[in-house]
Amino acid sequence: MSIKAYAAMAAKETLQRFEYDPGPLGPHEIEVAVEYCGICHSDVHVIDNDWMNGVYPLVPGHEVVGKVTRIGEHVSYVKVGQRVGIGWQCNSCGTCEWCGIGEEPLCSQNQATCVGHHGGFAQSVRANERFAFPLPEGMKSENAAPLLCGGITVYSPLRLYSVQPHHRVGVVGIGGLGHMAVQFANAMGCEVTAFSTSAGKADEARRLGAHEFVVNTDPDALKAQTGKLDFILVTAFAPLDWSAYVAMLRPHGKLCFVGAVLQPVSVSAFDLLLGYKSICGSAIGGRTLITEMLDFAARNDVQAMTEVMPMDRCNEALAKVRNNTARYRMVLKN
Ligand code: NAP
Ligand code: ZN
Repeated sequence: MSIKAYAAMAAKETLQRFEYDPGPLGPHEIEVAVEYCGICHSDVHVIDNDWMNGVYPLVPGHEVVGKVTRIGEHVSYVKVGQRVGIGWQCNSCGTCEWCGIGEEPLCSQNQATCVGHHGGFAQSVRANERFAFPLPEGMKSENAAPLLCGGITVYSPLRLYSVQPHHRVGVVGIGGLGHMAVQFANAMGCEVTAFSTSAGKADEARRLGAHEFVVNTDPDALKAQTGKLDFILVTAFAPLDWSAYVAMLRPHGKLCFVGAVLQPVSVSAFDLLLGYKSICGSAIGGRTLITEMLDFAARNDVQAMTEVMPMDRCNEALAKVRNNTARYRMVLKN
C-alpha cells in the first residue's frame, strides 16, 4: 500500500505531490494516519539542505499528531486507534548507554522522522513504537503537535541545565520554539525576558508569559540587560552579537543554543572565565522528558499558538515560516 505525501524532489525546491511504498511494517513499527503536522524551521533547513544531510525525494514533517492505524507484530506499547504524537526522532537502537538513560537523541543510531525516512507531510507516517507518545486527554491535537519537536526542544534544556524558579531566563527569537519557551519558563516560575527582532510581537510575548520584551536589533537595549540573566535560550538561527548576550549573564550563567546557527560563535575566553559562564547546546529531548513535558504542558496549559492550513497548501505554509510571518506555528491538517 502506497502513502500519499508531499516531497521536495531536490534541495530548495517547492514541494510536489509524491507517492511512495513504505514496504512491510517492521515488527516494532507503527503506522499513524496524520491528522495534524506542525512546520518546524528544521523542515525548512532540511528541504534547503542547509545541514548537508538532505535525502531526496524528501517528505518533511516531524510534529505529527494522528491515530495509530497499523501495528507491527511485536508492538506492545500502543494500540490501533490510539491518538499519539511523533516528533523529530522516530527510532534509536534502544540498548546503548544513552538509550539506557533516556537520552535517545544521543544514540549513534538515532533516526530522524524526515531525514532518510519519509515524514509527516503525508497521509501516514511510520515510527518505532517507542517514539510514539500518547497525548494527555483534553489537549487539542493542533496545539499539541508542535510540542513534539519545538516544545521538547525548549523544555529539555531548561530541565537538563537545571533552570530553577528563582532564575531569570532570556529567550532569543520568539518564533515557533521561542513562544513555547516563554510559556514553559514562565510556568516553571522563572522571570522571562523575550528578545525579538519583531517589535510587533511584544504584546503577545507578554501574554504568553514574558515579563520583559527587548528588541534585539537595538544595541542600547541589549546593553541595558548586562548582568541580568541566569540562562539564555537561543532559538534564533542567525549570527548575533554573542558577546553582548554573554555579558547579559550573571555569574554561572549559561548561553544555550537550540537554534541551528551555522556560523561560529565567537566570544573571548575572558567573557566566560571571569564570571564562570558557559556556552552550551541541546537537541530535542529523550523519551522520558517528552512524556514529562507533555504532562507538564497539560497541567500548566502550555500550548502552541497555531495557524492551521490544509495539507495541500503546504508550500504556502512553508513560505510563512520562511518569511517569519507565522504566529507562531504553522500546522498542516489532513
Ligand atoms: P521559527 O519559527 O522560524 O522562529 C525563529 C525565530 O528566530 C523567528 O521567529 C525570529 O523571531 C527569529 N529570527 C529569524 N530570523 C532572525 C534574524 N535574522 N535575526 C535574529 N532573529 C531572527 O523557527 P523555529 O521552528 O522556532 O526553529 C528555530 C531554530 O531551532 C531553527 O534553526 C531550527 O532548525 C532549530 N531547531 C533545533 C532543534 C534542536 O533539537 N536543537 C529542534 C527544533 C528546531 P523574532 O521575530 O522574535 O526575532
Ligand atoms: Zn523540529
